Amino acid sequence: MTPTRELVALDHAHLWHPYQPNDAWLANPDPPVVVGAQGVWLDLADGRRLIDGIGSWWTSVLGHGHPRVRAAMHAQIDRMGHVPIAGVTHEPAVRLAARLCALAPLPLSRVFFSDNGSTSVEVAIRAAFQFFAQNGAPQRTRFVSFEGAYHGDTIGAVSVGGVRVFHELFAPLCFEVLHVPSGAGGAAWSEASLAALDRVLEVHGSTVAAVVVEPLVQGAGGMRMTSPEWVRGVRERCDRHGALLVCDEVFVGFGRTGTLFACEQCDVAPDFLCLSKGLSGGELPFAATLTSERIFAGFGGDPSRTFFYGHSMAGNPLGCAAALAVLDAFEHDDVLGRARARAGEIAAWVPRLAALPGVAEVRQISTIAAVELDATPSYLDPIGARVARAALERGAWLRPLGNVVYVVPALTIEPFELDRLMRILHDAIAATTGHPELR
Ligand SMILES: *Cc1c(COP(=O)(O)O)cnc(C)c1O
Repeated sequence: MTPTRELVALDHAHLWHPYQPNDAWLANPDPPVVVGAQGVWLDLADGRRLIDGIGSWWTSVLGHGHPRVRAAMHAQIDRMGHVPIAGVTHEPAVRLAARLCALAPLPLSRVFFSDNGSTSVEVAIRAAFQFFAQNGAPQRTRFVSFEGAYHGDTIGAVSVGGVRVFHELFAPLCFEVLHVPSGAGGAAWSEASLAALDRVLEVHGSTVAAVVVEPLVQGAGGMRMTSPEWVRGVRERCDRHGALLVCDEVFVGFGRTGTLFACEQCDVAPDFLCLSKGLSGGELPFAATLTSERIFAGFGGDPSRTFFYGHSMAGNPLGCAAALAVLDAFEHDDVLGRARARAGEIAAWVPRLAALPGVAEVRQISTIAAVELDATPSYLDPIGARVARAALERGAWLRPLGNVVYVVPALTIEPFELDRLMRILHDAIAATTGHPELR
């Protein structure tokens, strides 16, 4: 094995990390070097162990190396690695597509595979646009999205994004999107958001192809939570104006909000459902976009009406096998029941966190808990990085969004692990804001 010092030197010479200020990274001679990951634990080269408090960027819904997922991937690689579903088909892709459709709300009955969350949204945008272009409504060329939205980092996904720090610079490269205030922040905001959506759709409704929404939680925008009623209100307005609804469940899918899909508890059936992250248990890059028979049928007839879109890794058998194993776990291991119990334990921490000086608000839905600190509400606020450092010293991996510090643990986290994580969250915030810790 390469000695740690040498690894760090090579990293500093050659790697470019995502969402990472370069100078701060290069100035740190001692970054965590991960050598193993099991369950919610990361093993570091120096022998320390960290709790993965962020579910590896929200992907690790079942923890690292889940036995079902690992076994399925082993079995699959021994039979067949990558074969794209290009003029051929295979059992992993077929079985997964059928199983996702059986679980998703009606009328979702078709699955398009790609390999990450951004592309799952890109697929929905492109398909919605082309659907109208070739089915009698070519004037429907625009999209509506919400302030604070995050749908990924390709230019299409950035176009429908609404986080200024990430997206503003790229405005000249983006297509036209009508931005509406989101319903996050309580009943009054929800009503104001729907009223704004009404105003936009009254003027532009006949030219809108689709409305794109993160149901229940705007994740990267700062763990901003919306109500099921708001999501339902968005669906009703799409119906009224003939626009399609894209539910981006790349983050909230796979049990993150307490149900397999967030749209279930909103009683909403989208026209497109975008899935990634937890879909493969977070072990492989993999994504799916589900849609209805009506949309699929709009691409039939003359070959020029084909959806000319695809990725080299389309229908990757390993991703499919991992996803089938994830669904097995949800079906047989009572993952959602365990998550409900953990959500109750997190809820008990909410008042303690809210009582900490320097805390403006604590938000929770199921196993997602977010602490908004009194600071400039900005992704660039340095307080997040300070809390992350304090958490690292205490044994947890956190990755705050500016002044919003959150935990998104694996749904399979054990009660003692969760207690430890919540304690570290509490203490890291207390230490950063200069107040006494629990111990
Ligand atoms: C993470 C995320 C994406 C982008 O997924 P990538 O796999 O990082 O491209 C899209 N939408 C939402 C809601 C996300 O949280």
